[in-house]
Amino acid sequence: MSKVYNNFINGEWIASASKKTFANYNPANTSEVVSELQDSNAADVTAAFDAAEKALPAWSKLLPPKRADILRKAADILARRRDEAADILTREEGKNIGEARGEVDRSVGLLRFYAGQWMGLGGETIPSFMDGRFLYTMRAPLGVVALISPWNFPSAIPVWKSAPALLCGNTVVLKPSPLAPQSAAIIAEVYAEAGLPAGVFNVVTGSGNELGATVLGDPRVRGISFTGSRETGKAIMRKNADRLIRIALEMGGKNPMVIMPDADMARAVEDTVTGSFWAAGHKCTASSRAIVLEKCYDEFLEKIVARTKGLRVGDGMDPKTEICPVIDERQCKKIEASIAQAKADGATCLVGGERLSGGIFDKGCYISPAIFTDFKNDSKFGQDEIFGPVLGVMKVKDLDEAIAVANKTEYGLASGICTRDVKTALEFARRSDAGMIHVNSPTAGVELQAPFGGCKDSTSGAREMGKSALEFYSQTKTIYVDA
Ligand code: NAD
Repeated sequence: MSKVYNNFINGEWIASASKKTFANYNPANTSEVVSELQDSNAADVTAAFDAAEKALPAWSKLLPPKRADILRKAADILARRRDEAADILTREEGKNIGEARGEVDRSVGLLRFYAGQWMGLGGETIPSFMDGRFLYTMRAPLGVVALISPWNFPSAIPVWKSAPALLCGNTVVLKPSPLAPQSAAIIAEVYAEAGLPAGVFNVVTGSGNELGATVLGDPRVRGISFTGSRETGKAIMRKNADRLIRIALEMGGKNPMVIMPDADMARAVEDTVTGSFWAAGHKCTASSRAIVLEKCYDEFLEKIVARTKGLRVGDGMDPKTEICPVIDERQCKKIEASIAQAKADGATCLVGGERLSGGIFDKGCYISPAIFTDFKNDSKFGQDEIFGPVLGVMKVKDLDEAIAVANKTEYGLASGICTRDVKTALEFARRSDAGMIHVNSPTAGVELQAPFGGCKDSTSGAREMGKSALEFYSQTKTIYVDA
């Protein structure tokens, strides 16, 4: 029997008012139910907001070092549970166990980082025109915040949203993705064991369509932080257009990797493969377009096709696996449809792009990593976020054309360039319309202490992670004191 998780509301694990649960499947073996979670309804969401509202006055008044102590304890508890949390993450989301451990380590690091930020929560003193006036600023929490997270980083994203929110004195209602919700339940267990007071952090599970309206529509919500697809992000923005609350939307990408002729070619191939295919391409920062200068196009293409042919697809629990399964049948069908459309539009598939079958492949959703050429940048293939192990390789004549092609997308999350020339790298960084730019490293791969976010349709609102997140989860008060 798989474990049944209730919702976490007001410090207690409570079954949904619907009395229904849904299954959390293992993408590597869809006959395995990893756990069951509550198929929540509006009554559960309201109960979670009641709890968050009730907990707000005491939590927001608690001194920041005391709030930080709880985050630090949470980090220690999650570090102790690291291998168990990583096993669950791989079983519910599919990514390789090494990457899952890395993600849980990131969650631990984020908790430690934000615990350490309490001393930076101050304001500033400002000189005044008025004699004897003391003019200063301080930060205040927003209030109750709603956090909506996707399935592809089911541990790190709930933490990178909740840790700064809690440090700033907000109370939280989190709705994780129904495709990988157990990692969020573990975060709730960790916070509870660390001594977080009842009602400060609440988790309600269920489908976005069902719960989204209630989670986001509750009048007590003063801030929304969402990570997911552009379509859902736009729907959230539309729904809240007449509410003057703070909203941050982190969405998709169509991230380019530019390969210059002076690059270390073996490293460029490895960085592109890692950035494109690891975690089955289920990363918003994954490279989906390799833009290659004509002088090194043939060499790069030959090497990356050979490397891709040799990639080992399998269950993420197998330490030898390089390419893990796709999250579920629906995503698999979406990827297959994009591949079929690309072929119908005249693109050439040089390797992969097949739904694998036989042996373990019959148990889950496995697609072999694919490389395409002969497509136009402005085609659907060149523009849509496929969110699977699929890379398009394009030939350009020089750096100017490479930058123009790289920027010709509605997204602008991450970009990369492989070059040994500092001038070229800096020029690319200056002209690239992306929020995160990598020189000689995969586009997917970020550090938790640095701002995270993109340009154009990839991001709307504040940057996440690093100190930037504290700006989103707090508001400035300006105080005029005359004696
Ligand atoms: P999604 O938009 O389908 O779902 C994201 C979350 O929103 C889930 O919890 C879902 O249940 C919820 N949701 C769905 N419909 C809703 C609605 N109408 N109202 C409120 N909530 C709703 O995205 P996904 O498939 O879970 O994740 C993949 C997408 O996330 C990709 O586009 C990827 O690029 C993006 N992503 C972005 C980042 C980033 O930081 N930029 C990070 C990870 C993933």
